[in-house]
Amino acid sequence: MKIIKIDTFPLFYPLKTPYGDANGFKNYRSCYLLRIHTQSGYSGWGEVIDWLPTLDRGFHERIIPFLLGKDATDRTSLVETISKWHQRSATGVSMALTEILAQATNLSICDLWGGALHQQIPVYASFQSYRESTDWINESYKQVKAAIHQGFTSCKVKIGGKKLSEDASHIQTLLAKLDCNVGIILDANQSYDLSTAKWWERIFADFGCFLWFEEPMPLDNPIAYKTLRNFLSVAVAGGENLQSSKAFLPFLSENAMDIIQPDVNHHTGVDGYRHTLALARTFGVRVSTHTYDGALSRLYSAFAHACLPEWSKMNGEAIEPIEWDMMENPFNELLSTTLEKGHLTIPTGKGIGLEMNEELIERYRWDGRIY
Ligand code: MG
Repeated sequence: MKIIKIDTFPLFYPLKTPYGDANGFKNYRSCYLLRIHTQSGYSGWGEVIDWLPTLDRGFHERIIPFLLGKDATDRTSLVETISKWHQRSATGVSMALTEILAQATNLSICDLWGGALHQQIPVYASFQSYRESTDWINESYKQVKAAIHQGFTSCKVKIGGKKLSEDASHIQTLLAKLDCNVGIILDANQSYDLSTAKWWERIFADFGCFLWFEEPMPLDNPIAYKTLRNFLSVAVAGGENLQSSKAFLPFLSENAMDIIQPDVNHHTGVDGYRHTLALARTFGVRVSTHTYDGALSRLYSAFAHACLPEWSKMNGEAIEPIEWDMMENPFNELLSTTLEKGHLTIPTGKGIGLEMNEELIERYRWDGRIY
């Protein structure tokens, strides 16, 4: 299965209204898709998230010339080589090569991986809570309320970018208006020190609806995480920017987190990502995927979760939820996934089992301008 052609699709969408978190406001969303074709007629899609100008140059000047003529079944060695140049690009290539193998064997991705153990995966509604307007708390409430009306039962909202009193007011407003009938995740994007992270316990202790506290502190101190975990009444989660199974080990071996959150886009290929999921099961720690940067990455995250054994015997809660981007982002629609009452149905067709929306790809193709 020699690789004969690779198409690339850089996509760009300027946001009408910026939104953000403790890391700042987003003014645009982007997506970089690739499609690898083989001599045998099989092809596969991949997705990468990064700055489009460097991604496009990297693919056309180095990665594509390297891959042409190689055998698509040599995924491990090809991905390892590319990951030395650019890890995220290697992950996109690993998706495409995985799909080619599934297409060639007439299997779905899940069947290729041993078969789906779950036909549906719960997803939580993920928000960027901050706006430039002074009424941002009310706007946050309105978007959470709309998600609940759509059938979502859990939501992630952002803290850590405003004064503590303002963020607390935001969360208390949500809790009062939502009547605690939805699971709430707080994500501070590594904004606090230990004592400030501990401050939130006064709110956690009063309400029973918090699912977890995400990345309250910088990820370079597993002992601080362990101390916080022992102090709080809610689960502590994190790890979306960690790039390998090895990077999760200090948190796992120190019992410093209740839930780890690898992101396939930031990891060492789909295979490396799945290794981290297995590691979570080995350590008896929950794993809830971070997946905010693309419909295809999210689908691969769902495939991996569908093939993951249950973490618990609790009926209805045996598989952890994965993230669902609720913000304005046309690239969420690149794949027509079936989402119902906060659950994603795992496609069962050959390969990824869904068609990429090529009309959307043409509409949002990046014009090459630096942004
Ligand atoms: Mg996060």
